[in-house]
Amino acid sequence: MNRVFISDLHLESENDAKYRSFQHVLQSACDEGNELYILGDLVEVWVGDDDDSRFAETLIADLRKCAARISVHVMHGNRDFLYRERFAERTGAFLLTDPFVLASESHAERILLAHGDAYCTSDAEYMQVRRLFRSTEWQNQILGSTLEERRELARSLREQSKSANQLKAANITDVVEAEIEKDLKAHECQTMIHGHTHRPGLHALESGARRVVLGDWDLCGWLLRQHNSTLRLERFAI
Ligand code: MN
Repeated sequence: MNRVFISDLHLESENDAKYRSFQHVLQSACDEGNELYILGDLVEVWVGDDDDSRFAETLIADLRKCAARISVHVMHGNRDFLYRERFAERTGAFLLTDPFVLASESHAERILLAHGDAYCTSDAEYMQVRRLFRSTEWQNQILGSTLEERRELARSLREQSKSANQLKAANITDVVEAEIEKDLKAHECQTMIHGHTHRPGLHALESGARRVVLGDWDLCGWLLRQHNSTLRLERFAI
C-alpha cells in the first residue's frame, strides 16, 4: 500500500515552477502506482467547476490524466471549497468529506484525513467565516452568480487576504490538539494527517496517537509518503 499526501499548494498559474513541481508529483505518483490524496488548498481560489480559464482547464486535464492511471482524492480547503460533483466528473478524482476516515482491508491502521482548519477553534473570527464559506446555502448563492461575478469576488477576497497576510504561517492560528484528539477518538483512528497551518511536522499526541502536518508549497514543496505503517514527510526544492 503506497500513498502520497499533499496539501496547500495554493496553485494559481499553470505556467510557473510550482505548477511544474505539481505535474512532476502527479507523474511520479502515477509511475510508482501510488494512491494520491490532496488535502485541501490545491489552488489559491476555485470559482466554480464551470471555470474555463486556461489555468482551470490545464489543472483539470492534468488531474484527469493522472486519475486515469491511479486513484486521486481531493478534499476541499478553505481556499477551494467550491468543488462540486462536476469537478469529480471532469477530473475523475474522488471528492473527500472533511474529515475522512481512510481505512482499507489490506491495511489495519485507520487514518483520519482533514484539511485542518476545522480544528483552529481558538480563532473565533475565523471559525465564523468558515461556517459561512462552508454553508451549502451561501455556496449555492455564490454559484448562482455569473463566472465573471465570482472572479470579481475572488479578486476582492484575495486582496483582503493579501493585506491581512493570512497566508503566512505566523498569521494562521494553529490547531487545538484537544479537538483533534476528540475526532480521532470519535472515528477510532490513531493517526491524523492534515495541512492548512503551514507548520509541517510530526507530533505525538497525549493519547499516544500521532498527528502529521503537511507543508505548504512555496520555495519548497512537501509530500508525505505512506508505505504500510511507515509515514515519511519529504521536502523538495521548487
Ligand atoms: Mn488552508
